[in-house]
Amino acid sequence: MKVRKVVKEASKAWLTAKAQRMRWGAQRWTVLCLHDVGDPAEFEELIAGVRKRFRIVPLSEGRRLLEAGRPDRPLLSLTFDDADKSVWSKCVPVLRSNNIPACLFVCTNYVEAGFRDVSTGRHEVMDWDELRGWVALGYEVGSHTVSHIPLNQATVERGKWEILESRRILQERLNCEVRHFAYPWGYYTDQLDNWLQAVESFATICVTIPCDNYPGSHSKHVYRKPWGLNYTDLRTVLREPSWYEMVRSAHHRSVLNGLAPVLWRMSDGGVPDQELAASSSVASGKR
Ligand SMILES: [Zn+2]
Repeated sequence: MKVRKVVKEASKAWLTAKAQRMRWGAQRWTVLCLHDVGDPAEFEELIAGVRKRFRIVPLSEGRRLLEAGRPDRPLLSLTFDDADKSVWSKCVPVLRSNNIPACLFVCTNYVEAGFRDVSTGRHEVMDWDELRGWVALGYEVGSHTVSHIPLNQATVERGKWEILESRRILQERLNCEVRHFAYPWGYYTDQLDNWLQAVESFATICVTIPCDNYPGSHSKHVYRKPWGLNYTDLRTVLREPSWYEMVRSAHHRSVLNGLAPVLWRMSDGGVPDQELAASSSVASGKR
């Protein structure tokens, strides 16, 4: 039953992507989802490569420019998830020398801990001073939850708290407006997403479905493509997704999506009740 639903969703998304590419051609907006960067020279090569093909714009401007009329070149935005320290030490000099905008999605507990652990090992994460430096340079910041949990496995109340509390902390600590959100691993439920679409304080909701964005969207969703390791890989990422990739994307949202949610349910599962109660007015979406 579940498999049939995933295949149906993926087929529909694949056909839609093909039809949109045919209809809109160059009038599209590609958003890259990046993480840790090992080699600044590789990142420099990536920037040089995409600049030839795209006009690079801030995340907050992409949708508006897309709707504003036919741009001479396709648009592209850079986003970095999880605020790895290498973004600060290796990417920022390249971004600055090329005058390229970018948005950083920050998980507040990672900043407090100073690191994040993933299957590939431990990654150092930017501290508050570095994040303030990022903002001072004019780059954007988005919220990425407090605890980086799979929101399709959490209660809706916990999900709302993760989203709004992370935004509150970021705005307070960085003294900037936070208008973007990205789902950790791209996991969400329709119920949570319907609520978030209506929360006025968020302008975009970033997901990890590997499609381009086209004019005429009535949703806050921004599709993002994960970046490979170098520009040669990126060429593959920049084309429209294969049917297999769409199956994986549809699967990504489902309950069959791998170990992370299972491990989280076994190891954590909850925020102290008093914290949720204290933030219930926040979770109503009024802020
Ligand atoms: Zn993340």
